[in-house]
Amino acid sequence: MFCKNCGKEIPDESKYCTFCGSPVNPEATQKPSSSSSNDVDVVSILAIVFSFLVPPLGCLIGAIGLSNKNKSGHSLCLASTIVGGILSLAIAAFLIVWLVFFFEWSTNYFSPFIS
Ligand SMILES: [Zn+2]
Repeated sequence: MFCKNCGKEIPDESKYCTFCGSPVNPEATQKPSSSSSNDVDVVSILAIVFSFLVPPLGCLIGAIGLSNKNKSGHSLCLASTIVGGILSLAIAAFLIVWLVFFFEWSTNYFSPFIS
């Protein structure tokens, strides 16, 4: 067979490549598929965490996770996108209301000194 790391021909029974030393057993070749699903889980977990800590970022990570078609993390990414989106809208609305109140308060507070 051929080494998947360096591409050189090595004996079929060898567990490690004699040229670069990378493992060539079947377990090692199965790892990339399982690790890719773990990456999606990490993304979905990051998305749901960030959707509460930093809602716009969580919404963005959730959208990225949704673009990656994986059934295990799909619902979590969708939830974090919705939660992150709603929370970012709520924060934006709160900031706007707060700024309006602050502006009105500051004009009322400073008006005696100005006039
Ligand atoms: Zn090799």
